[in-house]
Amino acid sequence: MANKYRDFDDYLQHNPDENGYFGKFGGAYLPEQLKVAFEEITVAYETIAQSAQFINELRRIRKEFQGRPTPVYHCERLSNKLGKTQIYLKREDLNHTGAHKLNHCMGEGLLAKYMGKKKLIAETGAGQHGVALATAAAFFGLECDIYMGEVDIAKQAPNVTRMKMLGARVIPVSHGLKTLKEAVDAAFDAYLKEYDTAIYCIGSVLGPHPFPMMVRDFQSILGVEAREQFLDMTGHLPDKVCACVGGGSNSLGIFSAFLADPVEIYGVEPLGRGPQVGDHAASMSYGSPGVMHGFSSIMLQDEQGEPLPVYSIASGLDYPSVGPEHAYLRDLGRVHYVTADDEAAMEAFFLLCRYEGIIPALESSHALAYAIKVAREGKPGSILVNLSGRGDKDIDYVMEHYGDGSRFFNE
Ligand SMILES: *Cc1c(COP(=O)(O)O)cnc(C)c1O
Repeated sequence: MANKYRDFDDYLQHNPDENGYFGKFGGAYLPEQLKVAFEEITVAYETIAQSAQFINELRRIRKEFQGRPTPVYHCERLSNKLGKTQIYLKREDLNHTGAHKLNHCMGEGLLAKYMGKKKLIAETGAGQHGVALATAAAFFGLECDIYMGEVDIAKQAPNVTRMKMLGARVIPVSHGLKTLKEAVDAAFDAYLKEYDTAIYCIGSVLGPHPFPMMVRDFQSILGVEAREQFLDMTGHLPDKVCACVGGGSNSLGIFSAFLADPVEIYGVEPLGRGPQVGDHAASMSYGSPGVMHGFSSIMLQDEQGEPLPVYSIASGLDYPSVGPEHAYLRDLGRVHYVTADDEAAMEAFFLLCRYEGIIPALESSHALAYAIKVAREGKPGSILVNLSGRGDKDIDYVMEHYGDGSRFFNE
């Protein structure tokens, strides 16, 4: 990084470039008809979203509706149990709706309102993005169409109920494998017909330009807060920062604030049941360069460039690619990518429950698993973990498969 950019401000000014590229990753691979629509979003983002009025309104929403800033918390009991490393959490589980996703959904909703759009369109897999977007739609008085595979609808009943309570239409997708991939296509098809009055809202730092940039910028609030809070609490910066990487939005949210600092940064990918194809979703660790879903990045793909099957115990992490900026930050040598498997994530989940009274999301448990691994090395120092969400959504699954977790506590 040092030899390519003067500092992080310089990095930010140049990334993405005007075509939406981070190095060789990113861009906007779109059918001709949709180019206009994404161009309109880009222009709106670069003008409206930078106005004082927009920024002030978003600031007020974050404070009064979302409950920001969320705290940074020092896990003293857990740190003492494990060794000398001090573990800190950025508590995005305390953000309204229980995860970081609302940070960019409120930004996207506000932009839609300023653009005069009437409807938000998206697909959802596990339903987390759908719930956050339905929340934003209700807040702004917009319609909301969420496309969801029939298989996912059956698996994620509580989130389907939440979306309906919030007034969204959940539109079942019944072709192909009836999961996320088909839902993405259906949402895109709908957008193609409605882009005059609707806006497509992507749920992570993915998809065609400007979404990787826009979602990162909206999420960067959590990193800015965390850096200042950590400095206030300790008088210094953390030695390490880590976050789980699905599409990559909560991680870029926290990483972006520390890129210019002498802080080691780790993205933690889900290794699931192991490194065989179909057993994990560690795109950066096992993937290769390619293009899918409208952008170029590192992806898990077969010889034809089709997405490979992916799996993680955390349904918010099972995506076969990763945001293009992550691919670039690894090329620059600025961020390291590591993995945590299901078992490590589950142990982290139970440790945080029992030692700190916090039930983490299974996604966030992957980031915590890495911090626990570091702490067990027994060295002093500090690590700041982005706790991207709360685990209430996961408790029935965990109880069924792991009981109360007592096998992790046989000391
Ligand atoms: C969706 C989700 C993630 C993964 O998405 P990113 O874009 O990688 O942040 C992580 N944690 C929680 C709680 C989620 O809901």
